Amino acid sequence: MKKLEDYVVSIKDFPEEGIIFRDVTSVLQDRDGLKLAIDSIMEELKDIDFDIVLGPESRGFIFGVPVAYNMNKAFVPARKKGKLPRETVEMEYDLEYGTAIVELHKDAIKPGEKVVIIDDLIATGGTIEAIVKLVEQLGGEVVRIAFLMELEGLEGRKKLEGYDVVSIIKYE
Ligand code: IMP
Repeated sequence: MKKLEDYVVSIKDFPEEGIIFRDVTSVLQDRDGLKLAIDSIMEELKDIDFDIVLGPESRGFIFGVPVAYNMNKAFVPARKKGKLPRETVEMEYDLEYGTAIVELHKDAIKPGEKVVIIDDLIATGGTIEAIVKLVEQLGGEVVRIAFLMELEGLEGRKKLEGYDVVSIIKYE
């Protein structure tokens, strides 16, 4: 039987020279790959109690919603600035070149609610670090952070020290 990593196509020099891009669309476009990806994430969450799945734009939506639906939880999107229509909280974070801003709806998470964050991949961890801060600003508790893929060489976990971080496929 194929393993999840067998469905990931790696593309050399994308989006720029020297980068090996791990393409999640190759997992999604295969029905067995898609099922295995969602099932694998749910497996990582079956031992904990939580209320909300939070997924960052845009690949966090792809994996977050089916997991939330199947586990009977709510789904909260984290979006780039300017996309959410109601009152938001926002956090700026560093990108390789420049900065970006991520937002959550202010009423999306209530104090004491337990949140699982799901994304396709952790690179530097900057995106998720900013989102964790926003969840806590709203009074939520981040009980686990689950990634399909982890680029271990970029040491994104260091930014998330103290949190329960899991990943299914690890690349050096
Ligand atoms: P971070 O904030 O540096 O951890 O960046 C994580 C984000 O960058 C994720 O949401 C990914 O979608 C995207 N990303 C970075 N490298 C890759 C890659 O090799 N494949 C797919 N997405 C990537």
